[in-house]
Amino acid sequence: MKTKNPFENSDTNKRYYTYDCYLKRRFGKKCVKIALDGGFTCPNIDGTISYGGCIFCSEKGSGDHTPPCNIPLAEQFELGKKFIENKWNDVFYIPYFQAHTNTYAPIEILKQKFEQAITLPDTVGISISTRPDCLENNVVDYLADLSQRTYLTVELGLQSANDKTLSLINRGHNYAQFADGFNKLKEKGINVCIHIINGLPGESYKDMMHTAHCVAELSPHALKIHLLYILKNTPLATMYEQGKFAELSREEYVRLVCDQLEILPKDIVIERVTGDGVKDDLIAPLWSTQKTIVTNEIDKEFVKRGTFQGFLC
Ligand code: SF4
Repeated sequence: MKTKNPFENSDTNKRYYTYDCYLKRRFGKKCVKIALDGGFTCPNIDGTISYGGCIFCSEKGSGDHTPPCNIPLAEQFELGKKFIENKWNDVFYIPYFQAHTNTYAPIEILKQKFEQAITLPDTVGISISTRPDCLENNVVDYLADLSQRTYLTVELGLQSANDKTLSLINRGHNYAQFADGFNKLKEKGINVCIHIINGLPGESYKDMMHTAHCVAELSPHALKIHLLYILKNTPLATMYEQGKFAELSREEYVRLVCDQLEILPKDIVIERVTGDGVKDDLIAPLWSTQKTIVTNEIDKEFVKRGTFQGFLC
């Protein structure tokens, strides 16, 4: 017999507040993000903060699903739309500035790109990914204005709330700096999506749960839980090949994600519970390519436990 889903913020069998469910409730139909490359760079790569970037960062500045940045934004958007139309029709779109640090440019350039993005056809919002230390006051003021006019989400990379790990992965900021950036946005009423990574080198179960507890305390609009990908040609790949750390198994990952979701407030929108790295560049964990199996295993684990997001909150 099918078990009734006890989690109220769900329109499927998922026991966490999926982004899909949130967007359908808010906009009345399915909404899909289109990843764009706005041609920005990153202060953690160009030497302003550090050279080389975070040890896991790919050549495309963690924007591996974006078209090349030399293609105009409107054309990048059309390419994304065509791809999506093969899968779904009658959807709304959210342009997603994914690659590199998307507030790392003069304000005039930011305005030009973001204002164009929100006028693209069938667009209901905009998502902008950035670092917590790249939020000048004039940028925050502009984002506050933008969020009055459209559904804006600023995606802030935290990855881990443990300073030792942040230093090891060459993140270029600590947890206190992250919290400052987060609060600057939150105080202005801007939706923030926090991005964390499970499986970083040297992290124990306790460390990763600590990160989840910090997220629960910050109480963002949304959260992305990512699995650490070891990609070719990264410093992380070298560490992995030297045996300096081991990847999580699928079973460990599934249990951990359920543990994290159980302590998170039930109204935090969960944009992701795993990720999808570019297969050709992926060294490990290879089980991550079977994304549906991972999400199904998370659903099954919740049913087995009789719990859901916020159960222990
Ligand atoms: S902040 Fe983002 S773009 Fe910059 S190095 Fe780290 S992962 Fe790459």
